[in-house]
Amino acid sequence: MPEVIEAWGLVVKAKGLKNSFIGELVYVGKENLIGEIISLNKEIATIQVYEDTTGLKIGDEVKPSGEFLSIELGPGLIGKVLDGLGRPLQEFLKESYFIKKGFTFETLNRERKWRFIPKVKPGDYLKELDIIGEVPETFLITHKIMVPLKMKGRVIEIAREGEYKISETICKIQDEDKIYEVKMYTKWPVRKKRPVLRYLPASEPLITGQRVLDFFFPLAKGGRAIIPGGFGTGKTVLQHQLAKFSDVDIIIYIGCGERGNEMTQVLKDFPVLKDPKTKRPLLERTILIANTSNMPVTAREASIYTGITIAEYFRDQGYNVALMADSTSRWAEALREISARLEEIPAEEGYPAYLASKLAEFYERAGRCKVTESREGSVTVVGAVSPPGGDFSEPVTVYSKQLVNTLWILDKELASQRHFPAISWIQSYSEFIEKLSEWWDAQSEGIKWSELRKKAMRILKEDENLQKIVRLIGTEALPDPQKLLLFSAKLIKEGFLQQLAFEERDNFCSPQKQLELMHTLIYFYERAQKLLKKKIPVSKIIKLPVVNELLRAKIEITDKDLDRFKDLRRAIDTQLSYLEREYE
Ligand code: ADP
Repeated sequence: MPEVIEAWGLVVKAKGLKNSFIGELVYVGKENLIGEIISLNKEIATIQVYEDTTGLKIGDEVKPSGEFLSIELGPGLIGKVLDGLGRPLQEFLKESYFIKKGFTFETLNRERKWRFIPKVKPGDYLKELDIIGEVPETFLITHKIMVPLKMKGRVIEIAREGEYKISETICKIQDEDKIYEVKMYTKWPVRKKRPVLRYLPASEPLITGQRVLDFFFPLAKGGRAIIPGGFGTGKTVLQHQLAKFSDVDIIIYIGCGERGNEMTQVLKDFPVLKDPKTKRPLLERTILIANTSNMPVTAREASIYTGITIAEYFRDQGYNVALMADSTSRWAEALREISARLEEIPAEEGYPAYLASKLAEFYERAGRCKVTESREGSVTVVGAVSPPGGDFSEPVTVYSKQLVNTLWILDKELASQRHFPAISWIQSYSEFIEKLSEWWDAQSEGIKWSELRKKAMRILKEDENLQKIVRLIGTEALPDPQKLLLFSAKLIKEGFLQQLAFEERDNFCSPQKQLELMHTLIYFYERAQKLLKKKIPVSKIIKLPVVNELLRAKIEITDKDLDRFKDLRRAIDTQLSYLEREYE
């Protein structure tokens, strides 16, 4: 009988594991604590235990499972709150935020019945991932039941439309002399990437409704982004905004709570949130993975794999999925703690030498791809990074930066000025600007995003340089064209970039409104520049009543009346012409 020979914290040694393998799930001690074999030396296994090991003794039994650490995939995932190992938390959260040790490991409810609608008939030939039938899982999501990977053959039996439990066989497939019984759920080892037919280039933006992101630093569906930011700069608020408003089908939100109560807040907030477009509960398209600080670090380490596996599974069904991880630094710290307990030689700042490759393994599971010849899907990953002391030269930030194609950097200065979202327009970056320009340029007749973006960016960059001079000599000494530039940059910052998460009328901005708004702000700047040439003082221009309207347009003009931007541009014309005549 395999037994514990060393019980020390969350890393345990056991002997007698003859047929075991690295990555095998095991149950440790009387309480059946869940563990995973992380190294094997002959029959001695080092086991990472996912639960509190207090009370575990030398000589306690270890039961091998013969399986990898896996997650159940099937109807019932949407709307769930899971822990890092995929155990459903809702039932437990009703009573307390602590999980009992060794509690049942089933992610999906075995008793609940789901309506299954077959999409194949006897005699049909099916390949892996072909769709056998559909289950209307929530109002927003239809779950596609697929042929499990590595399985193919001819349908010999298919269930009629009706209500079934996930454990019932709904289809039998014959491949030569083998007969497979297919159920509505499968399992997949979380640390293994689900295969794809091929990756596709990015072509469509993931619209977040946050102007500074969409307009200046767009992320594509299937892309990878990070949000590095010091404490209190707005990472969590931004991740919540993304979870609420991103135009994807499914959101997976992994919370590695910085503070135990923070995740508790997420668990209280999310269930009451509504999808702004459909007004349906957001949980009808969301899966939450929760790590509170009172859960062992080992479960936190596993949580991002559990999350990304679920994301890949819905991608395989043809959905666009976005995964938010808040924060990947907490995950990396878990890695560091486990590595220390394993007495591995530490590399930079105590992180294990494999930190970079682990991060890469995670981010490379993002992408837009062909799942089958006729089906496409995508997984977009957005990771928050919280470097200690806001120091961006630390290893997690440095490595993550190399792995992503979009950087949304949160700036301490901006946050302290209460400029939110505190995304730095100087340091942030997107690799997708050219790739997405075709999409953006097609969104509005007569407004070219790529040109508008360049013009706005030029104003913001010149402003940044001028601010250094202003700090030395003040604004008064500057010539009028520079004063106008500073003023226009202020209009862009306040009237476009700032977007309060708590302002209901402005927390989501459509691409069309973003274009109209920026077009109008730039229109003002360019028209005003012409007036300066005629020696009209800038002090008069910036006092025109239309300026206030420009600042309020982001809130007051809604998507339903975008034509009001034309009125606003007419008002600019009228007021500037009036001023011009005064000086003639
Ligand atoms: P972090 O997760 O980086 O520690 P938070 O996301 O908790 O920071 O943000 C800290 C505070 O900053 C919030 O409580 C809120 O007051 C403010 N804040 C951040 N982002 C926004 C935003 N987009 N709109 C309004 N307020 C914001």
